[in-house]
Amino acid sequence: MIDNMQPAGLYAHVPFCKSKCSYCDFYSLEPGAWRMEEYALALGREAGRFRARRRFIFDTLYLGGGTPTAGGSAYLAGLVNTLTGVFDGCFLDPEATVECNPEDTARENFDFAALAAAGVNRLSFGLQAYAQPERDFLGRRGSPADLAVSVRKAAAAGIDNFSVDLIIGIPGQNAQSLGASIAFCANSGARHISAYLLKAEPGTPLHENLASAGLPDEDAVCDLYLFACDRLAEKGFLQYEISNFALPGYESRHNLKYWRLAEYLGLGPGAHSFLDGRRFHYPRDLEQFIASGESCSDGPGGDFGEYLMLALRLSEGFDAAAAGLRYPGLALEKLFAVARPLERAGLLHFTKNGLALTRKGFLLSNAVIGRLLEAV
Ligand code: SF4
Repeated sequence: MIDNMQPAGLYAHVPFCKSKCSYCDFYSLEPGAWRMEEYALALGREAGRFRARRRFIFDTLYLGGGTPTAGGSAYLAGLVNTLTGVFDGCFLDPEATVECNPEDTARENFDFAALAAAGVNRLSFGLQAYAQPERDFLGRRGSPADLAVSVRKAAAAGIDNFSVDLIIGIPGQNAQSLGASIAFCANSGARHISAYLLKAEPGTPLHENLASAGLPDEDAVCDLYLFACDRLAEKGFLQYEISNFALPGYESRHNLKYWRLAEYLGLGPGAHSFLDGRRFHYPRDLEQFIASGESCSDGPGGDFGEYLMLALRLSEGFDAAAAGLRYPGLALEKLFAVARPLERAGLLHFTKNGLALTRKGFLLSNAVIGRLLEAV
């Protein structure tokens, strides 16, 4: 079922953050628990294990976190060099992205040239919001000015392709402040913008203080989301996924792999993989990763339900012909029958080749996709 000729993506999780943001449930550790050198060695060891086990062709590399820039540019370039060294000969013209905290990268001693020399050609900056009260609520360090400085430095080193993350649904946020965040990103030269809805994930400080957090209600968040889609479109950013927008040709090749059910290898504590029809992950435990690197199986993956669920996150939607090639013998009559009332409700539309959610459908994606999955 899996097309092994399609290049895979390589992800490495860098689990270090200088402080913890109020809403974040990614696996990361604060200073004192970092064990950076041992982590770098363990990452190389795990990469080597996979290299020895199987043939790989990658066309994307993505270092995320955590904060990959927390340990400085020399350390980060070292991680990239380790991965490209172990998988020497396995990369085909890769999109090579690192996530950046602008506060780290604006520092004088942060050297983008070292990243460029290691092959990094794309950056993903976490800004989240332009307005200071919104940034304070999220617990973000640094400032928008750090992003502006970082972008200039990166461009001088030859890396001018970058994405910026924003968050929608922050208490006190309104169309004006969200518009200012979008304008700041666009004016800074971003080629890609991710705009995620704020979620109070269990285990986060935001979740613990939910009653007093003052989060906007669902209707207000929906209005802000629709406003963001329109404003981003005005600035030339085309929506290609529920939360992702890009200038034409600048969609994230790496993240598209997840939604198109391509293969990826994820290394590092908390990182997930999908290879040879199976899913597995490393536990969220740096010590264990360093000691043994044992991963846990999540069983088989990549069935049609998963394929449909992920495809419907994309603006291009679900393509019945492509699905038929991947899953021979697929019967779609029931799926299309279930889709018709959803179409009448304005939640999806029939495309030339299949189905795609509307913006309203994106906002209710869990319910709409859940309904469609009942038919497969
Ligand atoms: S949001 Fe990013 S910077 Fe903040 S704690 Fe999470 S991983 Fe670290």
